[in-house]
Amino acid sequence: MLMNRPEPVYRQFYSLGTVIGLKAFGDNGSKAIDKAVERLNEIDDKMSVFKGYSEISRINANAGKCPQQVSPDTYFVINKAVRYSEKSGGAFDPTIRPVIGSWGIRTDHEGIPGSEELKQKLGLVNYKGIVLDGNNCTVMLDHENMAIDLGAIAKGYAADEVKSIFLENSVESAIIDLGGNIFALGKKPDGMLWNIGVQHPFSLRGEYVGTLRVSDKSIVTSGDYERYFIMGGRKYHHIMDPSTGYPSDNGVISTTIISGCSIDGDALSTCAYVMGLEKGIEFIEAFEGADAIFITKDSKIYATSGIKGKFKLSNKEFIYEDYINRN
Ligand code: AMP
Ligand code: MG
Repeated sequence: MLMNRPEPVYRQFYSLGTVIGLKAFGDNGSKAIDKAVERLNEIDDKMSVFKGYSEISRINANAGKCPQQVSPDTYFVINKAVRYSEKSGGAFDPTIRPVIGSWGIRTDHEGIPGSEELKQKLGLVNYKGIVLDGNNCTVMLDHENMAIDLGAIAKGYAADEVKSIFLENSVESAIIDLGGNIFALGKKPDGMLWNIGVQHPFSLRGEYVGTLRVSDKSIVTSGDYERYFIMGGRKYHHIMDPSTGYPSDNGVISTTIISGCSIDGDALSTCAYVMGLEKGIEFIEAFEGADAIFITKDSKIYATSGIKGKFKLSNKEFIYEDYINRN
């Protein structure tokens, strides 16, 4: 007997500062997507640094003044961000916002800041100045002009939330794509693993270096190609090294994290990017439940041990190197 192939419901829209694509299989696909859209917009309204009324903007406007009560959502994400700042020894730091601001990333006045300005902004970056009170659900930044930015972690949280909404609505097979921050829910409707492309770092979105075969996994990439400007023949991108105030420049140009939870994957992709190949691989190897693929400037690809058999290189411009026995 010939089985009918189930048709997915697909919706593309803009939220969280990026293009979102939700593809859900099953009878409740459309209803589940409606609920997910609502939830994503709610998360954006709470956590966007570009919306004056967001909880993050309220925390930033009251830096050095008084604690701000926030929703459990925002508290949870900020708390996670602080934990990843600690774990990464400050490679990840959500208080990087003043530095991002002076580079003008995502504005129409992008440019290289003067060294005095950068020094002053860098003096405001320190995740240890985030004062959390879990009992009252409040957050305070302990110095005036400090500011936080959840751009490196909020999409991961949002992907996990969409996954929960889908499961609550009996959608067990889906692709949640938050601007390249992907969650492959369950398996394909035919019971096979999903094939998820790993973005080509020098090419346009949609071109891949290879594919990952997974089920029920988050796949998140941090890359210098996501947002950048070019000046004097040099590329300046949006992932900052908090120790210098400059875009991270250690030879790594993209990091992809495969994990069960997307909030972890999102935070870890940024941590690993800033830590660089050696420290980054060691860091992810020690992290239970996460694996990583690193792409370096010289077109080499390195992966943690858990990736064996899951990643297939398809682009011959890249060399897939064994990290342990590398040259
Ligand atoms: P991602 O693409 O997840 O690596 O996140 C990059 C975004 O996070 C940037 O656009 C900034 O908003 C913010 N960001 C940049 N550098 C850092 C950093 N070192 N730690 C935390 N957030 C950062
Ligand atoms: Mg990230």
